[in-house]
Amino acid sequence: MICLGIESTAHTFGVGIVKGKKVIANAKSSYSTESGGIIPANAAEHHVNACADLITKAADQAGINLKDIDLIAFSQGPGIGHCLRIGAMSARALSCFLEKPIVGVNHCVAHLEIGKMLTGAKDPVLLYVSGANTQVIAFDNGKYRIFGETLDIGIGNFLDSFARHIGLGFPGGPKIEALAKKGKKYIDLPYCVKGMDVSLGGILTNVKQKHNSGNYAKEDLAYSVQETVFSMLLEVSERALFHCSKKELLLGGGVACNTRLKQMSMEMCRANTFKCFFVDNEYNVDNGAMIAWLGLKKFKEGKKQKIEDTSIRPYWRTDED
Ligand code: AMP
Ligand code: MG
Repeated sequence: MICLGIESTAHTFGVGIVKGKKVIANAKSSYSTESGGIIPANAAEHHVNACADLITKAADQAGINLKDIDLIAFSQGPGIGHCLRIGAMSARALSCFLEKPIVGVNHCVAHLEIGKMLTGAKDPVLLYVSGANTQVIAFDNGKYRIFGETLDIGIGNFLDSFARHIGLGFPGGPKIEALAKKGKKYIDLPYCVKGMDVSLGGILTNVKQKHNSGNYAKEDLAYSVQETVFSMLLEVSERALFHCSKKELLLGGGVACNTRLKQMSMEMCRANTFKCFFVDNEYNVDNGAMIAWLGLKKFKEGKKQKIEDTSIRPYWRTDED
């Protein structure tokens, strides 16, 4: 079976095509800004302008005709309403035009399932670290569950906000990573693990105040930020692994491109004889291939949707799938 998947939860409009277990196309275009964050209406406008070309581009990449497609999948949530709506409309239009079934999928679960498919991990705990989302997810006891999550902002937004504060542009994560490599001294920062959840808002205020005081080198602050928040995330992930008696850690989301996070993940796994899995960065960031793959999986499991059941779900939680 061939499935075309559309991703549009936030900044990226992606169109991926999978044939069985093979990704045969993964086209995308991302909205970016000179300064500041995502303006929902502008991101949606980007998606409107990009959608038709990307669908054609994906079909060309895959070397197929649109009529060869058996199934249309799309990100139904969670995400920014303005953006989700464009992906959902494109998917509905394709489904009606091609007279093929449509399946809406959960974006966070898609990160987990594409990771399993690409790496061969069987039953991992996913540390999902993206701009807006920060969750420790696993399929356990019959459903997807969240074992820990941020209580306030996502880790990517946290890094981007700090980067913006010290004069670096968007996306800030890679810039903080580069700066952190030059840091030498660990500066004490609040360490905020609350039960199985993490809180990042207070650390952001604290590190901004430290920067404003002029007493700290920004390289040392970047280094200390990474060491602190990545440790918090791995502490929660490690506990989730023991709690679920699982042996595999998988990383996903844009922040999973960070080499220090990967290194710390491998160290934690080595210490516990867990296996550690990463995907190529193309699949860490938002992409249509993961939506196509999860759509196909859900369809084969029997999920059927009518067009009138395809309303977007901006607040769809992973544990409601
Ligand atoms: P996503 O929402 O999954 O597309 O991820 C976007 C987020 O990933 C942004 O907040 C980026 O700053 C962050 N990001 C991308 N590359 C890196 C990196 N190398 N280190 C840390 N964060 C990163
Ligand atoms: Mg994502």
